[in-house]
Amino acid sequence: MIYADNAATTPVSESVLKAMLPFFSEEFGNPSSLYSVGRRAKRALETARETVASCLNARPDEIFFTSGGSESDNWAVKMAARNGKKSGKTHLIATAFEHHAVLHSLSALEREGFSVTLLPVHENGIVRPEELEHALRPRTALVSVMTANNEIGTIQPIREIGEICRRRHVPFHTDAVQAAGVLPLDVRALGVDFLSLSAHKFHGPKGVGALFVRRGSGLSGMIDGGAQERGLRAGTENVAGIVGLAAALRESCEKAPENAARLSALRNRLIEGALAIPGARLNGDPEQRLPGNVNLSFEDLDGEALLLLLDQNGICASAGSACAAGSLEPSHVLRALGLAPQLARGSLRLTLSAQNAREDVDGILRVLPEAVRRVRAFASRSER
Ligand SMILES: *Cc1c(COP(=O)(O)O)cnc(C)c1O
Repeated sequence: MIYADNAATTPVSESVLKAMLPFFSEEFGNPSSLYSVGRRAKRALETARETVASCLNARPDEIFFTSGGSESDNWAVKMAARNGKKSGKTHLIATAFEHHAVLHSLSALEREGFSVTLLPVHENGIVRPEELEHALRPRTALVSVMTANNEIGTIQPIREIGEICRRRHVPFHTDAVQAAGVLPLDVRALGVDFLSLSAHKFHGPKGVGALFVRRGSGLSGMIDGGAQERGLRAGTENVAGIVGLAAALRESCEKAPENAARLSALRNRLIEGALAIPGARLNGDPEQRLPGNVNLSFEDLDGEALLLLLDQNGICASAGSACAAGSLEPSHVLRALGLAPQLARGSLRLTLSAQNAREDVDGILRVLPEAVRRVRAFASRSER
């Protein structure tokens, strides 16, 4: 099997699994308990918080653990909206191709009376800081722009946007779920107030994430109940998962520069090979993109049929995002690029991680041209 769908999820690395295992058995304590097995769990939790903070250049008390990227996004957007509302600020800005965890949070807030501006991302899949600046109003409560897009991998000008938001005193959230582990993430340098992470996108376990909230941001809770996470998110902590998240983040932070260089070379090899297929084009900026992301469109091709054929050849890939897969609607990301529906329908996303080798890329390139040809031939036969 060649696994090339790392934007959907990644396998847990061996060392991360090893770090987690004791917390399912002998170190099973509840961090709120006062006896020693509980205290050890508490210590593991706080060590994990320090590790995450140091990877992000944040303070430990600015890190909150959640159930994943979706919850972090929901919490950040709704917390900032609630903060804004206190001073009559009811306008929110995001890009048109945010993850649904952000977009649907914004729709929920719209139903509560907030107004939302979605910025265009243009043909290259990159938001323009000057357009953001233009969209800001005195009543803007939040700007939310993802660090890198999950479908087309384009990297956004977060630092410039952060600068604008600082200058205009507008809180700024970034969904860094896809960027974590491959791009350097320094919350101070980026000028962000909220940043979302999800462990399973960087070789950690599923169902655990983190949210950075800059000190002084005005905190409000997500889940009512016990006093966990400083009384803001109740529920006994997912200790093993949190330990896994921290181990995975540290590992990928340390290796990020090395991994990024190796992955970009693999990605470019894959892009070059795929673009030799007639009627193929690359979606999103060729340079400002995640080191492991390849997103292609093929003319006259049914993307779903191609995926099935690739699967028969042992290749795991994706059409849009996994969340949109199975729906007949073309992905909102490809639509935001202004891609013709016919090209959006024939899209293919291949995403590589540090666990992929050159042989995987070569294996894909051996299968892909013939698979595209067969899907097209089949379609034109059934038209006749
Ligand atoms: C995967 C993903 C999410 C959701 O994370 P979960 O942990 O699966 O809830 C949010 N944003 C982006 C950009 C993602 O890729």
